[in-house]
Amino acid sequence: MGWTDERVELLKKLWQDGLSASQIAKQLGGVTRNAVIGKVHRLGLSGRATPSKPARTVFKAPRPARPVSAAPSAPRRMAEPASLHAPPTPVRYVDEAPGTATVLTLGAHMCKWPIGDPSLDSFTFCGRRAGDGPYCHEHSQVAYQPAQAKKRSGAVELARSLRRYI
Ligand SMILES: [Zn+2]
Repeated sequence: MGWTDERVELLKKLWQDGLSASQIAKQLGGVTRNAVIGKVHRLGLSGRATPSKPARTVFKAPRPARPVSAAPSAPRRMAEPASLHAPPTPVRYVDEAPGTATVLTLGAHMCKWPIGDPSLDSFTFCGRRAGDGPYCHEHSQVAYQPAQAKKRSGAVELARSLRRYI
């Protein structure tokens, strides 16, 4: 393939762009790397470092920074803490073994600690022997210790509300 004017112009351009002779040959097509080098010499383009130098590091001129306006610069809304919008923690009933008493069998001296979901048939009361209060020793501790009551507020609240009906 011969050197048409267009191809010579392309060769010059690619050469000035800093492409290697083999890269230029690939772009032009139909010529070898050696042909490109020969043409470069004939054109007197070898002003830049000779392509025969192996492993020449190509330093690209730093491009001008893109205008900032190219990037979307809308002010970001500050993400609000998720805790502000977190839904209230659903009441979690203490996961414990079903009690021995139901509404029907709950006796005066049995622990009235609710176990399970009152809307379900499986709902029971602890039913163990109650101490001085309405609950057994264990559940009294849960009900009246602030730290634990906090954790088990669901069960504690349920216990309080149920006491009205028991
Ligand atoms: Zn109990």
